[in-house]
Amino acid sequence: MTTPDPQALAAIGSFHAHIYFDGPDQREVAMALREQIGARFRVRLGNVHDRSIGPHAQAMYQVSFDIATFGNFVPWLMLNRQGLAVLVHPNTRDERRDHLVHALWLGEVLDIVGPERLGTDMDAEQPLPPNTTPTIAP
Ligand code: ZN
Repeated sequence: MTTPDPQALAAIGSFHAHIYFDGPDQREVAMALREQIGARFRVRLGNVHDRSIGPHAQAMYQVSFDIATFGNFVPWLMLNRQGLAVLVHPNTRDERRDHLVHALWLGEVLDIVGPERLGTDMDAEQPLPPNTTPTIAP
């Protein structure tokens, strides 16, 4: 049996963090966390989805960020996710593997819905333009 060559870091165009919530109490926590993120990091805060949209099994919002932001933002989320489930995944050419294999979960691991609908050979998503103006050092 042979093992595949390691993928180079250059395969990663950007990252997403998906912050999930279930019910009004968790929604309130998630919205407060969203404000805290925006005040501390140059990221793209995505729309709040109050119901599951594939491939995500629960209501959530997305945070898009670049590679340089990972080193501060992900540890900050570890400390401050307040019990919410968080999926952090890279964006490479293989969206299916990004969600199923390359994923980093903080807290509860949720299902990925309909992974067969995710692409396996696409352009790696580059960081979306930031829409935050941080004023607080993380
Ligand atoms: Zn994503």
